[in-house]
Amino acid sequence: MNILEFINQFPDENSCREDMRSAREREGVICKKCKGKKHYWLKAKWAWQCADCSFRTSLRSGTVMENSNLPVRTWYLAMAFMTFTKKGISEVELQRQLGHSRYNTVWSLMHKIRSAMGKRDDTYGLEGMIEFDEGYFEKATKEKDRKKLKRGRGSQRQSNVAVMAESTKLEDLETGKKDSHCRYFKMKVLQTHKKEESTRLYRAILMISA
Ligand SMILES: [Zn+2]
Repeated sequence: MNILEFINQFPDENSCREDMRSAREREGVICKKCKGKKHYWLKAKWAWQCADCSFRTSLRSGTVMENSNLPVRTWYLAMAFMTFTKKGISEVELQRQLGHSRYNTVWSLMHKIRSAMGKRDDTYGLEGMIEFDEGYFEKATKEKDRKKLKRGRGSQRQSNVAVMAESTKLEDLETGKKDSHCRYFKMKVLQTHKKEESTRLYRAILMISA
């Protein structure tokens, strides 16, 4: 997703909230109190009400955005900025892009997003600058089947994989030259070749509890 696509898809706070609401409903809202799955949507409250025990679950409850006063769109924007460029983005630059006055708030927001990225895969979290890209990897296919399949983007011979890499700028003390160094990668095989898959991936990250 690039910045134009983002602006078209998420022009305002309401579009982000609606997007989050439908994503959570697709995943299934579970009542914290009685584990009930049937809910009614209370539009005026931006919350679901459990059909069995009336317990309310707010839009942000149980997600990385819980306890945050920042608009949902700020979270979406932060996630987008963190993934727009292959080089990643620093806290200071994100603060500038969001036009936010407090560095600590932006630092904490990025920290929570990274921690949520880490929770998608419990083995290790990612630190420092996160780079994000989609890659295409050749599937292992038998030679006789290969010839029947299409080539290139959208090819049945390839898997579309989202790659998130941690990169830290290392400075050589003698030469002062900076080098990009990667410690960990995270990859996820995307189900389709559509662009929306990467949006779905970062939306999924925002749904993770902090
Ligand atoms: Zn309930």
